[in-house]
Amino acid sequence: MARHRRYLKAISWFLCMVAGSLSLPYGAFCESPDHYAAARQRMVLRQLKARDITNPKVLSVMGTVKRHLFVSPRRASQAYDDHPLPIGEGQTISQPYIVALMTQILDIKPGEKVLEIGTGSGYQAAVLSYFTDQVWTIEIRKGLAENASKCLRALGYEKISVKHGDGYFGWPEYAPFDAIMVTAAANHIAPHLLDQLKMGGRLLIPLGSTTYYQTLTKITKTPKGNEVEHLLGVVFVPMVGKILEK
Ligand code: SAH
Repeated sequence: MARHRRYLKAISWFLCMVAGSLSLPYGAFCESPDHYAAARQRMVLRQLKARDITNPKVLSVMGTVKRHLFVSPRRASQAYDDHPLPIGEGQTISQPYIVALMTQILDIKPGEKVLEIGTGSGYQAAVLSYFTDQVWTIEIRKGLAENASKCLRALGYEKISVKHGDGYFGWPEYAPFDAIMVTAAANHIAPHLLDQLKMGGRLLIPLGSTTYYQTLTKITKTPKGNEVEHLLGVVFVPMVGKILEK
């Protein structure tokens, strides 16, 4: 039995090393001792509370989700630093503050349906899943979609639905959504996403030049038309796919 456990440990260690060298997320294979609990609490205090994150649930969720398991093991020690991190294929996981801010702005209530465009590592989707059990997320890069899906399953976020595809078209089968969060920069809003938003629903998107910086923009669908709020300057990796053909 002890021998059996030793083999399992050796296999798990080997897969961790493979994950590290391929930049796969930790969570895809590894056991998850929480070596970063203190770093995570420091991040909540210094990067979120010290700024304008005031929603207690957002603060508590950001203090709970193990961000270091959504990046490759060799980047785990930087996972709670105040900046974005590479997740492979030239893409990045957003800075913790931006994840918290976007979550706070959307203010998801239990039972609401949320669609995220740009799954990336799966971290933002994991954060959203503490607010509602109805989270859908779409990723255009197959490798990232597969990794995120594996990582989310391995960490127990089984209810999040991950799809490999172009988020420009939304996910009509599950529409309408109460909230849509786009986590890649776009120079316009895909009409499909607006169509798939409920009346009263909110859409949050980094809107503007995809090569420089964007304005985080919140759209609320009202019977009188779309209410638009320009919130703050941000820098996201560009949305690709159909959006580039327009
Ligand atoms: N939310 C992610 C980070 C997003 S980075 C996280 O928590 O880790 C932006 C992601 O959007 C990248 O993974 C990129 O591949 C993806 N993306 C770009 N264009 C897209 C599109 N048209 N549809 C879906 N995903 C897209």
